[in-house]
Amino acid sequence: MAYKSLYRKYRPQTFDEVYGQEYIVKTLCNAIELDKISHAYLFNGTRGTGKTTIAKIFAKMVNCLNLKNSKPCGECSICKCENTEEIPDIIEIDAASNNGVDEIRELKNKIKLMPVMCKYKVYIIDEVHMLSTGAFNALLKTLEEPPEHVIFILATTEPQKLPITIISRCQRFDFKKISINKIIERLEYISKKEKIEISKDALEEIAKISDGALRDAIGMLDQLSSYTNTKINVNDIYELKGSISTEELFKLTNLYISGNIENLLDQVETIYNNGKSFQLLTEDMLMLFRNVLVCKKAEKYFDNKEISNKEEIKKIAKKLDCNSIENIINKLEDLSKNIKNSNYPRILFEVNMLSDFSNKEKKDVNSIEVAKKEKIIVTKQIEKEEDKPALEIKIDSDNNVTLELEEDRKFDISKKILINNTIAKASTTSKKKANTIYNELDKFIIDKKYKNAATILKDSVVAAASEDHILLNYKYASMVEENDRELTNIISLIEKMLGTKYKLVAITEEEWKKERPHYLELKRQNKVIELMEEKEEIKKEKSNSNDSNNYVDLFGIDLIEMEE
Ligand SMILES: [Zn+2]
Repeated sequence: MAYKSLYRKYRPQTFDEVYGQEYIVKTLCNAIELDKISHAYLFNGTRGTGKTTIAKIFAKMVNCLNLKNSKPCGECSICKCENTEEIPDIIEIDAASNNGVDEIRELKNKIKLMPVMCKYKVYIIDEVHMLSTGAFNALLKTLEEPPEHVIFILATTEPQKLPITIISRCQRFDFKKISINKIIERLEYISKKEKIEISKDALEEIAKISDGALRDAIGMLDQLSSYTNTKINVNDIYELKGSISTEELFKLTNLYISGNIENLLDQVETIYNNGKSFQLLTEDMLMLFRNVLVCKKAEKYFDNKEISNKEEIKKIAKKLDCNSIENIINKLEDLSKNIKNSNYPRILFEVNMLSDFSNKEKKDVNSIEVAKKEKIIVTKQIEKEEDKPALEIKIDSDNNVTLELEEDRKFDISKKILINNTIAKASTTSKKKANTIYNELDKFIIDKKYKNAATILKDSVVAAASEDHILLNYKYASMVEENDRELTNIISLIEKMLGTKYKLVAITEEEWKKERPHYLELKRQNKVIELMEEKEEIKKEKSNSNDSNNYVDLFGIDLIEMEE
């Protein structure tokens, strides 16, 4: 006997066997019982949700040869027929393959003929949206006045492509995706009957992957059972699909958001060596971050929905803000489009993983490390000066650390003045000179007097410099504070190295990022930056015409170094 696919073998023959779509089944049954059969139905829904199955059962039911109390008998030749193709009055047309006007024209001619053995001629037109315009027009004519003995069942996955004139003539049913539990139930039944050994996890995974399409789920079970001899487990599914396991997916995702590049690349290599599909991987990640965003923005909805690995997803949601999640989703969406056509999916994937989704977020994720450091410093500071810390460290029950800057940590006005005066006379030459300090710092690391100053300076970046001012950037606020505490020594160390006593001002990169546009705007308007009065020294002077050259220079790309 020829092999019959599980899907065909277990295709429901009666409404009792149909899984899901209870509402539709009930309405159709009522229509038969109350003798209120419509002449045109439109079944709309995604693939594998039972549209043609229900259409076929309905076609048989309306044609039962001895209805008992308006219910199909279940015993006559029509009721008992397993293959509707054997019934000449049930005509199936696949519009996807027969989309010509001729098909419908033929239908139009034959439609007038009485059924051969049934009460009704039932036309089931699958993928009806694929019909050509000419065919639609021909169909419309017959839909306008169908003969008493004809029933149309139009099935489609894309109702928006149907002319409104067609839709308006049909009774419409929207097929829902079949729930995960229903799919599991059905798969369990089939595997028991077929003596297929399969783990509960694997059943769940199939149900999830099939995304509400029972046909796909049964098809997958069929493939798996022919592919493994032992008990089917979750890994068999990943193997078959070419996707990675949920565990691996979360591992990779966590490496990604924490910026753990080395381990990330290692895992990507393993995935590649195992012959997994980077396209599926990208799609899995996309779905994962979609759930992270939902969790972040609509917690109640998230809690109420059938979503797997909720706890893991919540953990990720805690580590990221909405903006960066959206950035990641956009990136993954682009990647999923590009990776399809790429000959080098692995490289494309790697490049995308390596490029930052946002500098800021990288910092947030790294904040645990930073926070540890910050915490020590701040604690020290409190002990020393009983000052209110600039940073507040919050540690939640999950041991996640977040840093909160007190009122955006506005640096004081004297720093603003120093920054202004640095920028007012800054030049590329001065910046280059200032940058030479980094060549010599190592010499002072062992110096008793300057070792602290040198250590601190090593973490700095020269953002701008003039002949007598240097603006330093540090990555973290704690470093700026260290710098400020050690300021006198740092100034004298720089004097030792460069021979000039500079005015020094240090702020974080983040703060500089906020300040810089102001100066860029002045430049755009061709305005002169006026020097401001610094503490103690009173020398209000306008930068002269010579300075304005430097000034143009000042905003050269290499002068103001900021990591974007
Ligand atoms: Zn019957």
